[in-house]
Amino acid sequence: MERTLSIVKPDGVTLNVIGEVISRFEKKGLKVKALKMLHLSKEEAKGFYIVHKERPFYGSLTDFMSEGPIVVMVLEGPQAISLVRETMGATNYKDAAPGTIRADFATDIERNVVHGSDSLESATFEIKYFFSAMEIF
Ligand code: UDP
Ligand code: MG
Repeated sequence: MERTLSIVKPDGVTLNVIGEVISRFEKKGLKVKALKMLHLSKEEAKGFYIVHKERPFYGSLTDFMSEGPIVVMVLEGPQAISLVRETMGATNYKDAAPGTIRADFATDIERNVVHGSDSLESATFEIKYFFSAMEIF
C-alpha cells in the first residue's frame, strides 16, 4: 500500500471538474483517505513548490496556485504514486496520453488541472504539508 498527495488546482476548481477528477481516481481503485478545500497564500504555494524554487516558472506557478481555492487529497492504493501520475497525464497537456485528466481538461502547460506527488519522498513531504495524522483516515 502506498499513499500519495493529489490536488485539484485552481483551474480545475473553476472548470467544475472536482468530482470528475476524484471519480477518475476512484475508478482506478484508489481510496480517498483525506480531503479538504483551501485557498493557499502566495507564501504557502511557494513552500509547497519549494523544490522548484530555482525554476523560471516558480513565480508564475505560485501565483497560479494561490489565485483561488484548491482541493487537496490523500489517495491510497497499491502503487498509488505511479497510478495517480498515469491518470493525470504528462505535465504538458500536449504530450498527455488520450483519456488522461490533463489531455481532457488542461489549457496550458501551467494550468494543467491536477497535481500528483512524483516519488515516495515527495509524497511524504506533501501529505505532511497539508494534513496532520488525525486528518487522515
Ligand atoms: N510548470 C510550468 N511550466 C513548466 C513546467 C511546469 O508552468 O515548464 C508547472 C505546471 O503547473 C506543473 C508544475 O509547474 O504541473 C510543477 O512542475 P513539475 O515539473 O513538477 O510537473 P508535474 O509533476 O506537475 O507534472
Ligand atoms: Mg511535480
